[in-house]
Formats: sequence, structure tokens, C-alpha cells
Amino acid sequence: MAGLAFAKKRNLRVYVLGGGSNVIFTGNLDGLVILVELKGISFQADTVQAAAGENWHALVQKTLDQGLFGLENLALIPGSVGAAPIQNIGAYGLELRERFARLTAVHRSTLETRCFLSEDCEFDYRYSVFKGPEAENWVITDLTLTLSHLDKPVLSHEGLQHLLECQKVEPNARSVASAVIQMRRQKLPEPEQIGNVGSFFKNPVLSVTVAKHLKTAFPAMPFFALDARVKLPAAWLIDQAGLSGRAVGDIQVSKQHALVLINKGGGRAEDLLQLLAEIVSVVRSKYGIDLELEPVFYP
Ligand SMILES: Cc1cc2nc3c(=O)[nH]c(=O)nc-3n(C[C@H](O)[C@H](O)[C@H](O)COP(=O)(O)OP(=O)(O)OC[C@H]3O[C@@H](n4cnc5c(N)ncnc54)[C@H](O)[C@@H]3O)c2cc1C
Repeated sequence: MAGLAFAKKRNLRVYVLGGGSNVIFTGNLDGLVILVELKGISFQADTVQAAAGENWHALVQKTLDQGLFGLENLALIPGSVGAAPIQNIGAYGLELRERFARLTAVHRSTLETRCFLSEDCEFDYRYSVFKGPEAENWVITDLTLTLSHLDKPVLSHEGLQHLLECQKVEPNARSVASAVIQMRRQKLPEPEQIGNVGSFFKNPVLSVTVAKHLKTAFPAMPFFALDARVKLPAAWLIDQAGLSGRAVGDIQVSKQHALVLINKGGGRAEDLLQLLAEIVSVVRSKYGIDLELEPVFYP
């Protein structure tokens, strides 16, 4: 709150940072950077309330330790609790919105505190109002989730189901969390070792009609149901366009997972922007699909 008041008084632009796992810095920042380090977790009946500065994965583990289930599919997603609603984090068949109860946020210029319910957040695939029209307006201070004492894991993700079957383990919250952690470790480079922000593009979401046209032109194109629409893996588009492993300077499309761009050490913002422009342009000309960026760019 003091930081926001300071910025308001001096008319400074505010940049909010949680874990920094989904932000690309392309230049120096002119303004005040506020690192959200609010701490505290409390449990009441089947709900958990966590302050924005708590680590997301640590929260998932704490809920499991408390015998509260429902977050296991979202294990090991990097970053803070406060950032989780921003893009409605999701993985392995589950999105945050399915466990969301409410959040508290402070307005960056009026300093008003407000409670947001699910309908106020306009959650969608990798989207909320905090990534849209309200992107520059609020600082999330805490998040409340509704979980369950019943251990009934979500097993809709094919790869997850398959791994549990192969391991011959009973599907429960803990085995799902372990399987998710194992799959993530195999597929995604650790940002501490190899710089990356996870998925660089959102998976395109299309109407069923558009998907049918594409399927006729590209019979091998995979689709997944998403509400009344379909989701198309952006990694498949990039890979099939021959861009896996493509590099500009030290920035490279990961050979393990085409949705991830890695920094091999000396990558510069210019290299990244050039590679991004190439990927977007190649995918557009081959499939007529505009890829949308997932991370946030500062400034
Ligand atoms: C290896 C890897 C794997 C990933 N896998 C997934 C995945 O499976 N699913 C998924 O959805 N995401 C994934 N991500 C993306 C990332 O983990 C999430 O977006 C995460 O929520 C970002 O948290 P953060 O605290 O690091 O946010 P930051 O990177 O610090 O910030 C991201 C955005 O949120 C804003 N923000 C942060 N905290 C607050 C706050 N308290 N109030 C208001 N605004 C705030 C920032 O201003 C910025 O705009 C992955 C990232 C990496 C590096």
C-alpha cells in the first residue's frame, strides 16, 4: 500500500512482480517495481486463503498436507499465489477458476480495496479481467480457494491417466501430484537452469466450424474440446511448421517442447523479438492462425 501511495504521489508507472516467471524484460523500466511478498496461509473448513506473495507450488503441497484436495493437477507451476488468477493458471485438465472462491485486490491509483468473486474476474482459458481491461489497475493481495476433503482427482488429461496406469498406482491426490511433477520435470526446462517462461503462446481456441475446415486441410491436426469450442496445441503448429530447434542468437525454440523458447545464456531481447516475429509469420502463412503471446512484456 505504501509503495502504491509513493508511486501515486510521484506519478510513477507501477510494475507489479510476483515470481517473475511469466515476464519478459525488453528494456529498462521507467517507474516503480513492486515485488509482492505478502505472506500467510490460513485454512477454514474446506477453504484455504493465501497471501499473494506465497509460492504457488508450496501452497499446493500445504493443502495436500492438510488433507485438502483439488489443486494437485496444478502442482509445480512456477510463481506466486497472487499471479495465479491473472491468467487463470491451468494444467493437466484443471484451471484455477474451478477452485476459485474470491480474491482481494487494491486499486493502484485510488488505493480502494475490493473483493472480486468469480463472475467479476471473467475467467477464460489463460485469461482474466486482470490480463485484459483491468491489467494495469489492481494489485492482488490474497486469494481464497474452495477445495475438498474428498480425494477425487481430476483424471481427464490423457497423458496423466496413461502415466498412472503405467505406474500401476491408485489415482489419488498425492499420486496425481507426483505424476504431474514427474511429467513437468521431463517436459519443461527448469527456469533456474535454462531461462524460459513456460509456454510462449496460448493454444489457439477456435469455433467448431473453423476447426472442421482446418481438419479437412490438415487431417493430422489434433484438437481438444474446450467448453463449446476447441483448443488446438500451438506446439503442434510450431513443430509441424519446422520451427523446433530454430534459433536466433542464443534464443531457441526448445527441441523438447516447441511451445517453450529457451535462453541458452546470452539471449537478447532483439533476438527473442525476431524469433517471435518469425514463428508468428510462418504459422500464419501455413495455417492462417494468429498465435497469441502468453507472457507479459515489460516495459
Ligand atoms: C517452466 C514454466 C512452466 C509454466 N507452466 C505453466 C502452466 O502449466 N500453466 C500456466 O497457466 N502457467 C504456466 N507458467 C506461467 C507462470 O508460471 C504463471 O503465469 C504464473 O502464475 C506466474 O507467476 P509469477 O508470480 O511468476 O508472476 P510474474 O511473472 O511475476 O507476473 C506475471 C503477471 O502477473 C502480474 N502480477 C503478479 N503478481 C501480481 C499481483 N499480486 N497482483 C497483480 N498482478 C500481479 C504481473 O504484473 C505480470 O503482469 C509456466 C512458467 C514457467 C517458467
